[in-house]
Amino acid sequence: MATALITHKAGYDHVTPQGHPEQVARLDAVLGALETMDLLRVDAPMAAEDDILRAHPKAHIDAIRAAAPAGGWRSLDADTHMSVGTLEAAFRAAGGAVKAVDLVMSGEASNAFSAMRPPGHHAERETAMGFCFFGSIAIAAKHALDFHGLKRVAIVDFDVHHGNGTQDLVEDDARILFCSSHQMPLYPGTGAADETGVGNVVNVPLPDGCSSARFRAAWRDQIFPRVDAFKPELLLISAGFDAHEDDPLAGMMLQDDDFAWITEKLCDLADTHCQGRVVSALEGGYDLEALGRSAHAHVKVLEERGR
Ligand SMILES: [Zn+2]
Repeated sequence: MATALITHKAGYDHVTPQGHPEQVARLDAVLGALETMDLLRVDAPMAAEDDILRAHPKAHIDAIRAAAPAGGWRSLDADTHMSVGTLEAAFRAAGGAVKAVDLVMSGEASNAFSAMRPPGHHAERETAMGFCFFGSIAIAAKHALDFHGLKRVAIVDFDVHHGNGTQDLVEDDARILFCSSHQMPLYPGTGAADETGVGNVVNVPLPDGCSSARFRAAWRDQIFPRVDAFKPELLLISAGFDAHEDDPLAGMMLQDDDFAWITEKLCDLADTHCQGRVVSALEGGYDLEALGRSAHAHVKVLEERGR
């Protein structure tokens, strides 16, 4: 069996204004870094509206559709802009995460990485924000529960920013455990340790300048035991690489091999509880070289563990 890599050329058509960190070149950086790897390459389909409706109300989908510009840009907030190609890319980013679940649940792939943009973990129920339009990883988690009949899934988020959107979409759903480490204070300002949902949310704020050792200790002591106790049947990852020390948007000090380390540990948990089933989706990561190296480190472990 193989590791699936799900992406689509529509990811290049989500064009952000000059100088925006969430830029088309990010997709080249990630896909270029994975180019020589032996992966099952699959096109990201458009998410079905029914899939998105598990996480967002129809009013949100309609609002995103209505906001799509015929030319130029439309700004939904100071950071979040739609170009002509954004609508399709956002539907395919959500669809790619759903497809990743299908490939892993059917056994066509042992694990999967969806390399699409725009990212998703800041999109709240009715609010596009922080470069995100639809909560792709939460949509994928709810698809695994409702369509594939799983009873418990875990989402872990090591992006340097708090996944406020994912938390908003899952914090009332006890079938989903959501665990996030993130720099605090930092955008979007949520993610305090006392935000616990219905007992299914684990937030671990970390300081500016956080070292690899402190990051690893936080996951080892505060997150892995919660995942272990929850016994998920599928492990989903919001894979943001912006906690890297080279990243321009944040101040954590992770190195390339920290992303290999956390992927190994998450694969260990998935082997124990999930028959190895891991679905990962790209979130942030804004230094193009560090992004490429970090994504390579992450997917290389998936590929080795998925054989
Ligand atoms: Zn981020």
